Amino acid sequence: MKIYEIKDYIYTIDTETGNESEIISSYILNTERPAIIESGPSSIVKGFLSIADEIGINVNDIEFIFLTHIHLDHGGGVGLLSKIFKNAKVIVHPYGVKHLINPEKLWNASKTILGKIAELYGAPVPVNSERIIAPKDGETISLGNERIKVIYSPGHASHHVSYFLEKSSTLFPGDSAGISHDGYVIPTTPPPCDFDKSIESIEKMRVLNPEYIAYTHFGLSDANNLLEKIEEKISEWRRIAVSSKSVEDMHNTLLDVDEDYQYFWKKMKDSKFADNFFRLSLEGFLSERK
Ligand SMILES: [Zn+2]
Repeated sequence: MKIYEIKDYIYTIDTETGNESEIISSYILNTERPAIIESGPSSIVKGFLSIADEIGINVNDIEFIFLTHIHLDHGGGVGLLSKIFKNAKVIVHPYGVKHLINPEKLWNASKTILGKIAELYGAPVPVNSERIIAPKDGETISLGNERIKVIYSPGHASHHVSYFLEKSSTLFPGDSAGISHDGYVIPTTPPPCDFDKSIESIEKMRVLNPEYIAYTHFGLSDANNLLEKIEEKISEWRRIAVSSKSVEDMHNTLLDVDEDYQYFWKKMKDSKFADNFFRLSLEGFLSERK
């Protein structure tokens, strides 16, 4: 685990999950009230101790751990992390609360869907219910010299939340605006997903007009037209899914016609996580065909 990039008080952390770089980021906000956005999976959270130390944040001073959703790569480590940062409150969508208190069902479902990758992420451990805050849509939470706004963003998951840092105009969309790197962006949509809701959520985030987007997969980027682009791409992929016979068929079509897909395939095809980001995502599109 290492500090990947620093912008003002926003530290992009490369969690180096499974010893692979540029797959899963987490963010530490060195604000007056310090916070973490995305715990990452259980297997990497110990690394936060030395990173906090490197930044100069005392373990007792982290006040919040914000989760975009409970999928293991984003929030699986939060139980362990809450034991390291003993004063931190955990922020999650109301639908996610019961899975943090009792993660057994989440773990079993993850093993079924993700197979070996779930073992690589590691099992989630429970969070004490008194530590959990489930904010309302649109609520703002003060970080002292910064404010963070909660934006419910269902689609990728019904309990998905995005966060917007108001002063630094930075959006943390979790998985609700795809995966992005170097200006390329593609959807991440394992079943069950709801594309109509995804589009509505992206529209909601576009209204905020962020200058920067801090992706979990992967890194902080200028916002440019990335939200418009992912919105169009979801519609385009839905059309492609309708005329595709199988995951392989859709994969081949995308390799032919979609330069963003080509970019990510080239970058990640040999990754342990490739199956996660390609086959599962296309299955999402094929299972939601209308
Ligand atoms: Zn997810």
